[in-house]
Amino acid sequence: MSLVKMIKYKKNRPYEGGKNMHEWALADSVITSAVDFSKKEKLKKISQVNIVFGELQNIDKEIFLFALKELIKSSNKVISSSKFKILNEPAKFNCKVCATNFNLEQIKKSEAEAEYIHFIPEMAHTYLKCPKCKSPDFDIIAGRGVYIKNIIGDS
Ligand SMILES: [Zn+2]
Repeated sequence: MSLVKMIKYKKNRPYEGGKNMHEWALADSVITSAVDFSKKEKLKKISQVNIVFGELQNIDKEIFLFALKELIKSSNKVISSSKFKILNEPAKFNCKVCATNFNLEQIKKSEAEAEYIHFIPEMAHTYLKCPKCKSPDFDIIAGRGVYIKNIIGDS
C-alpha cells in the first residue's frame, strides 16, 4: 500500500488514528491478490472471496470487513460487488519431542495469557507446553496466518 493511500484512509477515519492500519493494509493486500487472481484466471467478476483467519491472529474482523467494503469502491471493477467471508482456523501445535498434536483448548491458560498469545504468536512458546511431555519445543502448524482460501467468480 502506498503512503498516499494510507494518508487518505486516515483522513476518512479521523477518530481511528493509526491503530487500525493493520486491518486496512491486510484488506488492501487481499483485494490486490484477488484482482491479480481474476486477471490470471480471466474472470469477469469476483462474487465471493473466502478468507481464513488464524486463531493466533489479533485482527478486528469488523474493521477488516469495513475496510474491504470501502476499498473495493475504488478498486478494479471486477471485485466491486464481491462478498467476503471470514473462516476461522483454530491454532494447532505439534510437539517436536513426542510428536503430539495439540490445540489451545487442551491447554489450561489464563485469559491474559491467551490475549498475549493472540497479540504475538511467537509468545506461544513462552506460555505453552506440550500437554503430554511438557516440552515447550513445538511447531505452530496452523492458526497463525491470514490467507485467501478460495475465490468464487464468473469467467
Ligand atoms: Zn510432547
